[in-house]
Amino acid sequence: MRYIDQDELRLPDGWTDRAQAASVAVLAGADPDDYAGVWRDLKDFLADLFPEKKCWYCETPVDRADNAVDHFRPKGRVGDAANIHTGYRWLAFDPRNFRYACTFCNSRRKGIEGLTVGGKADRFPLLNEANRLYAAGPLSQETPELLDPCQLHEWELLGCRQENGKPCATSQDPVEKKRAETSIEVYHLHYEPTCKKRHAVSVQLMADVEQGKLLFPLSRTDNAMQELFTIVARKIRRAIDRKAVFSGEMIFLLKGQRHVDHPWIQKLLEA
Ligand SMILES: [Zn+2]
Repeated sequence: MRYIDQDELRLPDGWTDRAQAASVAVLAGADPDDYAGVWRDLKDFLADLFPEKKCWYCETPVDRADNAVDHFRPKGRVGDAANIHTGYRWLAFDPRNFRYACTFCNSRRKGIEGLTVGGKADRFPLLNEANRLYAAGPLSQETPELLDPCQLHEWELLGCRQENGKPCATSQDPVEKKRAETSIEVYHLHYEPTCKKRHAVSVQLMADVEQGKLLFPLSRTDNAMQELFTIVARKIRRAIDRKAVFSGEMIFLLKGQRHVDHPWIQKLLEA
């Protein structure tokens, strides 16, 4: 996961008027899904906010994109609500409630391998359930449990294990840890085929870091070694770039490799 700046979203001509009309109809009792074309028309514009059309939750490219627009606060039934909740219908056409997501993160499903279950669907747990909104009101009243890619630093709470690519919390703080663990389950980030891909990427990163650590001391006195070191350093930089798959988790792994003898690692993280 990485930070997505929603202020960069560009709306197509006439979209705001259509959203407004749909919103009025839904507040008068219509089913939001009858106006699904309205949010679907924003799909490509949302995808443009993150390179390579990656899913905002798991950072894999979205290839099957029928339901790629997720409502962060569900537009229909809310599974986690203490009382019957018919959905945050008043946010059904609010672009700030949209997240671009792959089918695995967005839809509830069982993983065939590893027996995992996940997918967001109607999930929206809160840390303060008593303050849940059942009608339009200030969103700041709610404290979502799910990590939100549209908040500046929440993505930093998600990492992965180098040895198997499984996602993990990066913080020991009990609340932050709980939020990461719930997000892993709800977004199905522990889906086994995804973990395998994440592991393959982390194996490559670690091999490059190891090579970088060998070359760095030699590069100071040897021009040929300097050249080789630069090639490896650039490769590591590419692995943590916003364009790369699982770049958030790779940043977490690279942070763990920082060492006083290798100041170049911190420099790459800041580059
Ligand atoms: Zn995803």
